[in-house]
Amino acid sequence: MSKGKTKIKYSVQTTLIFIFSAFLAVNIGMMNIYPTTSARDIVFMAKQDSMLGQATVMTASLSALEKLSPEGVEQVMALIGAGDYARVVVSDRDGIVLYDSRPYGGLVGRQQTFDVLSRALEGQAVFSSRYTGSTFESCAAAPVISYGATIGGVYLSEEDSTQAALINSIQTRMRSISCVVGAVGLAVVIIFSKALTRRLRELVKGMRIVREGNYDYRIPTRGGDEVRELSEEFNDMTGRLQSTEELRRRFVSDASHELRTPLASIRLLSDSVVQNQNMDENTMREFVTDIGSEAERLQRLTEKLLHLTRMDSVVAVERVMVNMKQVAQRTIHLLDPLAKEREVSIRADFAEDCVIRTTEDELYQIIFNLAENAIKYNRRGGEVSLRLRREGEEAVLTVEDTGIGIPAADAPYIFDRFYRVDKARSRAHGGSGLGLSIVRDTVIANGGRIAMEAREPVGTRFTVRFPICVAPEQGEEA
Ligand code: ADP
Repeated sequence: MSKGKTKIKYSVQTTLIFIFSAFLAVNIGMMNIYPTTSARDIVFMAKQDSMLGQATVMTASLSALEKLSPEGVEQVMALIGAGDYARVVVSDRDGIVLYDSRPYGGLVGRQQTFDVLSRALEGQAVFSSRYTGSTFESCAAAPVISYGATIGGVYLSEEDSTQAALINSIQTRMRSISCVVGAVGLAVVIIFSKALTRRLRELVKGMRIVREGNYDYRIPTRGGDEVRELSEEFNDMTGRLQSTEELRRRFVSDASHELRTPLASIRLLSDSVVQNQNMDENTMREFVTDIGSEAERLQRLTEKLLHLTRMDSVVAVERVMVNMKQVAQRTIHLLDPLAKEREVSIRADFAEDCVIRTTEDELYQIIFNLAENAIKYNRRGGEVSLRLRREGEEAVLTVEDTGIGIPAADAPYIFDRFYRVDKARSRAHGGSGLGLSIVRDTVIANGGRIAMEAREPVGTRFTVRFPICVAPEQGEEA
């Protein structure tokens, strides 16, 4: 059943969930990283400003001393204070510590070991900060310059856990918010994609059911999106398929029914001839004549069926300019014997200026079928009148008779294939119920219209209208 079909590798749902999850992961990552790094940078910058500023204040005070000595530095530091810093260290230009704010384990008298201070002693202010996750560890150092020469350096260090805690809490909050948003988003995508794939599966299921030949099936239409549009289009297409299929079935069954009757008669007649050995010549001739006329009926029927099939297959025919009068005259000439046999008189009134774009064969089919019906379904001594005239941009052909007429109840079906008002009577005239449907289809194929109405006081009138075709050499478009 699904032989040769591609198996689905990635369903719409999996693809949607995958894309959304990837998008979510990137988003959550960005939301967690960007604000915290920015906050960290801001803290770093603020600390750099304040610590270097403080170091400058200290170096400026110390530079008033001509020479740095432990006592002198101690005095200055006692005056300006160590601020809130964890540690303040002052060294001479060789890096020997002169002052250390740490009360125990201070480095006074020893070689300093701070990298930033070593760099400051080379003549530049240095700041460094590190975020450990729970604290900001920052340090700054600046040279003490007196009369243009570096005579020592100041080192400050600080450990700030308050700001770090703030950044941590921002980070935690961002993480929880993004997790909640992500979870909700993922749930929405799962629900949405599940609904979408369910509807797509319904669509595929419907297509399979219809493909199996169940043209009654309709896909449920829900929502207001493209899937609904697709379902509606599909249902529409199925509806059309269904009516085409019904027409085809009816046509085939009607056609076989029509073919069966003459075939059965032929069989019955030939069986009678074969079985009845003592049949006299006259009866035999009668039987064989009947067989012949049944065969003729079969021939006419198959010709009409072939004609219809050709029209259905929409084979392009080359249509040319045809003067209707000539074709109409030829047709009534051919029907003259039939009219005489039925004692029906034909009146013809054909205008000259009815030129249309068609083929002679098609126009002949139309006029012949209408005129033949008008004679066939007439009374003895009745009349058939054919009229051709031009009305504006239209050529109008009317075929009317004084015959038996068509009951109003049958009028809507008269152009249907195999439709006959009086089956027995039509059959007696060799009718198949295909003539008018061929006429209608041919008229439409030629861009025309056909209408039937009851003629007062008796009979029927068929009116056919075609667009007039104007010759290109007259300066107008054909
Ligand atoms: P058929 O081969 O039976 O004549 P048509 O398609 O030509 O088939 O006509 C369909 C039916 O319409 C006929 O069987 C007949 O009953 C009716 N009909 C057609 N033309 C006339 C008419 N001019 N007057 C009365 N009945 C008509």
